[in-house]
Amino acid sequence: MSSFLLRRAFGATFVLLAVVGAACAGPSKPRPDRSFQPPATVSFAATMARPAMDPEVELELLARHKTTPALLRSAWLFLQLDNPRAAIDATAEVLYGPVQPSANDEAFARYLRAEAYQRSGFAERAEWDRQQAATLANDPELRQRLASLTRSTSTVAPAALATELVVQPRSAWSARAVDKSNVNAMQGIRRITIHHSAMYFRDTRPNTCAAQIQKIQREHMSGRGYGDIGYHFLIDPSGRIWEGRDLRYQGAHADGDNNKNNVGICLLGNFMRGRNGQSPSQAQVRAMRLLTATLMAKHNVGPDEIYQHSDFKATDCPGVVMEPIVDQMVRDLNRQGVSAMVEAAGQ
Ligand SMILES: [Zn+2]
Repeated sequence: MSSFLLRRAFGATFVLLAVVGAACAGPSKPRPDRSFQPPATVSFAATMARPAMDPEVELELLARHKTTPALLRSAWLFLQLDNPRAAIDATAEVLYGPVQPSANDEAFARYLRAEAYQRSGFAERAEWDRQQAATLANDPELRQRLASLTRSTSTVAPAALATELVVQPRSAWSARAVDKSNVNAMQGIRRITIHHSAMYFRDTRPNTCAAQIQKIQREHMSGRGYGDIGYHFLIDPSGRIWEGRDLRYQGAHADGDNNKNNVGICLLGNFMRGRNGQSPSQAQVRAMRLLTATLMAKHNVGPDEIYQHSDFKATDCPGVVMEPIVDQMVRDLNRQGVSAMVEAAGQ
């Protein structure tokens, strides 16, 4: 045996001893507690409670429970252990798992993921998740926390935001495929038009919102003979933005040639006065402003190219309650510019 091989053999023995030594050294962790109960709910108090045991032990115990409360608690513990990568993975299981998260669960997942992104140096992604969490959160303590965070971090460049806009893809509402023989190419985006769905709708649960959008697509395709849902984007009462018709295709929302180069945005609800009328939620208005400003920045659309359906024809759309809100948005765009609007929309 050459001296080289001998050294190698000794080296390996030494490494092995070192590993055994490390495993024996230090206080041994407490044995997993059989009486351990994973959190049953998602709330500020349950998800972010101070650990009653070694966080690594709690994580081992939580790993046996793939419930949403356990996953979100795990994400928070990973943050305490300065492991943002694992925290992001845990939130992803909630956000993109087989079950659509509730608005509350999604708010916590996005808040925790924002913290993890922030620590990983992804400031824009963090800002986006925080904004989305703020539109969804109903836990008062989480709302308070998010309000204090979004006030202090609202200086992200709109160009960066534009690439990070969170939009639920067509697959999220199980869209029927577009009938390509029955749509025209968009050939550039030059204007944006706001609509309402003209159906009273207050629900914020993702599944119910998805069903509502399916219903609109069914009416547009089967009822009116369109090649797809008429709008390019839909915004539900929680402020969630859903992808409608692909932007590559001209929409079917503003009558004939008015659809050319025209992005259609529909807010779910009936923004009329009287019976079955309603106001848009604040989150919905905020999302509309954010989406509009982001599209304007991305496609170079000016404030004088923002329309309401009623600008094109005699129609109640987008509703007498909505019209002054859109007018205000256009005034703000003229006065503050797109960048300020994007930033303001995040607050
Ligand atoms: Zn309309």
